[in-house]
Amino acid sequence: MIENRQFYINGAWVDAIEGTDCPVIDPSTEEEVAVIALGGQADTDAAVAAARAAFDGWAFDTPVAKRIDLVRKILDVYKTRENDMAEAISLEMGAPIEFSLAEQVDSGEWHIKGFLEAVENFEWEHRLNDRKGTRIIKDPIGVVGMITPWNWPMNQVALKTIPALMAGCTMVLKPSEIAPLSSLLYAEILDEAGVPPGVFNLVNGDGAGVGTQLSGHPDVDMISFTGSTRAGIAISKNAADTLKRVSLELGGKGANIVFADADANAVRRGAEHCFENTGQSCNAPTRMLVERSRYEQAVEEAAETARKTTVASARDKGNHIGPLVSETQFEKVQNLIQSGIDEGARLVEGGVGRPEGLNRGYFVRPTVFADVNTDMTIMREEIFGPVLSIMPFDDANEALAIANDTEYGLTNYVQSTDPAKLTHFARRLRSGMVQMNGKSRGQGAPFGGTGASGNGREGGVWGIEEFVEIKSVGGWPEEEAQAAE
Ligand code: NAD
Repeated sequence: MIENRQFYINGAWVDAIEGTDCPVIDPSTEEEVAVIALGGQADTDAAVAAARAAFDGWAFDTPVAKRIDLVRKILDVYKTRENDMAEAISLEMGAPIEFSLAEQVDSGEWHIKGFLEAVENFEWEHRLNDRKGTRIIKDPIGVVGMITPWNWPMNQVALKTIPALMAGCTMVLKPSEIAPLSSLLYAEILDEAGVPPGVFNLVNGDGAGVGTQLSGHPDVDMISFTGSTRAGIAISKNAADTLKRVSLELGGKGANIVFADADANAVRRGAEHCFENTGQSCNAPTRMLVERSRYEQAVEEAAETARKTTVASARDKGNHIGPLVSETQFEKVQNLIQSGIDEGARLVEGGVGRPEGLNRGYFVRPTVFADVNTDMTIMREEIFGPVLSIMPFDDANEALAIANDTEYGLTNYVQSTDPAKLTHFARRLRSGMVQMNGKSRGQGAPFGGTGASGNGREGGVWGIEEFVEIKSVGGWPEEEAQAAE
């Protein structure tokens, strides 16, 4: 069993001051595989103090080019540890080992590369249009508290730490207490890459403890949070007294609009995407809206996709989905599937209980509901499991109204071969992202949502801008001198 009760503070591994033990459970076996310490106020204070002390040196005395070089070094070291990282993620949150390496670990690398490209043309300082003497400077915002979830651990950690490092911020990361092993390894990577003491710190803890201590801390200038809408609201309230900037990446309930003229693979592709990562993605396309003439065929295709989706241990090689992350999530998803049945949706595949042959581990059955309506709980709440809800629509206006009838606004999807329909929907869908015909966003495109999905934009240029404060300067000397010429 792995035992790691230490935190990474001021460039060293230190024992928790107020640690309480917290088990890490392997969701494939329900067995305890590691123990970490959850820190307390004294640990949070020590990490924040280290980040504060390191700030001026990192922000103002370290040239941007040096900070970017360090990110290149982090990428190099990250690549050398990718197999260890794949195992850590697979063990802590149940991603099948091949998926863990190819998708979970790779997402971190993909974002680091995206930032390295974006930073090349990033304007840290510039004159305001032709207004001589007026200069715009992008200052690092300061000490950032970073709070991350368990579902795509390295994706989230890279999206926060890398641009913050580039911008000159110092930071305290509190990863999910459910999936802390990957972040402990990430701290080792940053240490090996030579991140100066205090610039990056890690304290394990839960939401009520270190999470709340960070969001209310007077010496933390910003909270960058990814997780549930519930926690995002709690953090925003707690951060209000100290007027922190709060960047939120929250839940989602993506609609996938399938027109009758969509390509032949559209439904299968949408269902597979919904089941990917065992449905534990904030941007999962969980509400499939199908034009009526193609509806029954779509229901059958989605059911077939569910039948073909195998469920197995995260340890097994191959292209399957693993368990849900925890018993809590297992119970939540079971209850939501039951609510779909109770509220009258047509269960066409899957259902409550574990898949056949699996009696241990938080495994659930890939599930498809048809004839859903917008009042049903499964159409309104984020399920975070492999559960697809399908309903028909008659015309484009109705599809748009149903898609936008949600408090969330993260990613919506459109499938059609008609360019006019595609562009109309891309403009009218109320969400931070729209993906059409199975095409993902390009590297460096911003990721983020609206409404209950949050307000942050992570990735690329926008992801760096999240961590800067805009400073306007008048009377900039060189400009004045030039103006006088
Ligand atoms: P969660 O909100 O329970 O926990 C996320 C993190 O917040 C954890 O580190 C947790 O310890 C901490 N936390 C919980 N309550 C807190 C509080 N009151 N104050 C401070 N910190 C607190 O979410 P989760 O179950 O770990 O993750 C799943 C959720 O994350 C889903 O809703 C999913 O949609 C969302 N998510 C969003 C994105 C995105 O980019 N929009 C990406 C991934 C996941």
